[in-house]
Amino acid sequence: MSLSPERIVGQDLMDIYRKVESGTRLSAEDGVRLFETPNLTGVGYMANIVRERLHGKSTYFVRNQHINYTNICNKFCKFCSFYAKKGGPDPYEMSIEEVRRRLEWHRDVHITEVHMVGGINPRLSYQYYMDLVRVVKETLPKVHVKAFTAVEIEQIAAKGGVSHEQALRDLMDAGLDSLPGGGIEVLSDRVHRELFGKKLGGDQWKSVARAAAKLGLTQYATMLYGHIETIEERVSHLVQLRELNDETGHFVCFTPLSFHPEQTELEDVKPLTGYVDLRNIAVSRLMLDNFDHIKSFWIMNTPEVTQAALWYGADDADGMVHEYEITYKEGDFGNKKQVLTYKNMCAMIREAGRVPIERDSLYQEIVREQEEAETGMRRKLVPLAMAR
Ligand code: SF4
Repeated sequence: MSLSPERIVGQDLMDIYRKVESGTRLSAEDGVRLFETPNLTGVGYMANIVRERLHGKSTYFVRNQHINYTNICNKFCKFCSFYAKKGGPDPYEMSIEEVRRRLEWHRDVHITEVHMVGGINPRLSYQYYMDLVRVVKETLPKVHVKAFTAVEIEQIAAKGGVSHEQALRDLMDAGLDSLPGGGIEVLSDRVHRELFGKKLGGDQWKSVARAAAKLGLTQYATMLYGHIETIEERVSHLVQLRELNDETGHFVCFTPLSFHPEQTELEDVKPLTGYVDLRNIAVSRLMLDNFDHIKSFWIMNTPEVTQAALWYGADDADGMVHEYEITYKEGDFGNKKQVLTYKNMCAMIREAGRVPIERDSLYQEIVREQEEAETGMRRKLVPLAMAR
């Protein structure tokens, strides 16, 4: 027996359901109602309609490697557990040779994307950033380099005494392929002032995004939720991103990022639950009608929540990751090895009743030979987590 939409969505959300059915854009008020309703099932049901309309059962993932090249930072964001501070992680700054060595660790795995972000370390030169990109292309010539939030782009431009646009051009000449989009957390002047006042604000963040779009750089976008932002501020963030993408058309994927208060200045904030994570994914899917993909980042909201999220609007499960130093699994602070093997990623997606599709950074499907597809490697090697 199948339930009618009225039974699942409820009378009070039927007007939004009708908009979703007809592909009508939702308003900011609709977004607030979707966050406030206790009927998460109804919100997820509507998000899944959009997700399946766009992607059917397909769930995308990428073979990626993250490199967080330094944790020295002069921005002191209150929500950040990554930057080096007393009682927190020790400071580090990777040399270009160290980055090359890390890339070599995974040379025998078919990585297609290297994702690099780091702190704002005033000691790093303009040339360092160029070399950072160049060393990736030298070591793994075919990979896609996704690197630098808008805050880093601003720092790089300042170091070089050039405009955002010129810094981006130089980085593209060195091999930069896309921008990961972070750095603004929530587009709200109040949250900016209270939590990350030393970083660039919303207008500057948009200005970097516009400069990158003008140069044809693909971009991704994020939202850090679950700290001090209100529901209205979350919705405003989504609406502003939607408007920016109407203008530039360069955003391909949105990732809601779940805030982890451990080791931050906001340790008193209640840790988030899967319930909140699922709602953020679902509302993002419904509001961002001009973003093709919504990602559930398993590092931040766990593989288990990611499995459920594949029925709440998410069509992307990120990738294997390998090392990620910005957020750690609960109780695992300091463990830099965070990896889902190819097999585990596919099993996780299949168990959730979805179809795993390996993609490149621009969402083109990658088809592997049978043996390689099964092992995730070119030839028989030790498991990824031991491949160092
Ligand atoms: Fe620095 Fe980024 Fe952490 Fe802010 S979020 S303190 S800019 S590393």
